[in-house]
Amino acid sequence: MAIVPGEQGGPARYTLRAGEHRLDLNARLGQSLELHWTGAIACTHCGRATKKSFAQGYCYPCFKKLAQCDTCIVKPETCHFDAGTCREPEWAERHCFQPHVVYLANSSGLKVGITRGTQVPTRWLDQGAIQALPILAVVTRQQSGLVEVLFKEEVADRTNWRAMLKGEVETLDLMAERDRLLARLDSGLGQLRERFGIDTLRVLDEAPVAFDYPVLEFPRKVVSHNFDKQARVSGTLLGLKGQYLILDTGVINLRKFTGYEVSVS
Ligand SMILES: [Zn+2]
Repeated sequence: MAIVPGEQGGPARYTLRAGEHRLDLNARLGQSLELHWTGAIACTHCGRATKKSFAQGYCYPCFKKLAQCDTCIVKPETCHFDAGTCREPEWAERHCFQPHVVYLANSSGLKVGITRGTQVPTRWLDQGAIQALPILAVVTRQQSGLVEVLFKEEVADRTNWRAMLKGEVETLDLMAERDRLLARLDSGLGQLRERFGIDTLRVLDEAPVAFDYPVLEFPRKVVSHNFDKQARVSGTLLGLKGQYLILDTGVINLRKFTGYEVSVS
């Protein structure tokens, strides 16, 4: 599922890829939608059929072999490239040794996150954030992880997806939060600059961005659908937020089922 920001502050646009087809999900709001998993899963990396999906879309051999499936991607502060044990040093050069951004977002309250510079604003839309503000630019993924660890002393790094889906999220003054956190974490940031060089952690002066999602009605109680338990998921499409479809029968996180062969009607 591809999500792009709406034009002129309008709701985000959702497109579902189904085989060769591109389905405009915004146009299906208020209508019935049926998703049917055929039982097949294809690895998103190598295309091989797999009985089970690992790390949201990979076959087991890829999961064990690829650098992008290593635990250091989720916990970049544990980067082990310098120890010579990176699974794919060339991939790391292209993905980890690239500028990253540390941001504040508001998906279910204030959170900190990191992303490669090129992944903005996709990352925020994926999380269902209603606001986001890039606050620091760093030179590598490992540095972004170390900064995130520091910020985690003060703010969450995860989204409470139930709260996000219920739409009960107050807007925040992200610039004030940024200034407060930067002041509070000043000595920790100073230590990282001493370690990596004075120019490596650059404070950004950007304006916050806001996102709107196409939702007719937020669920009062969040029940989730799961293809592994029930191959057919149907209902009236009430909304789209983050990687979730909100149906009157429950919600489904499509990211979780990346690689699943699904027919849509
Ligand atoms: Zn594979």
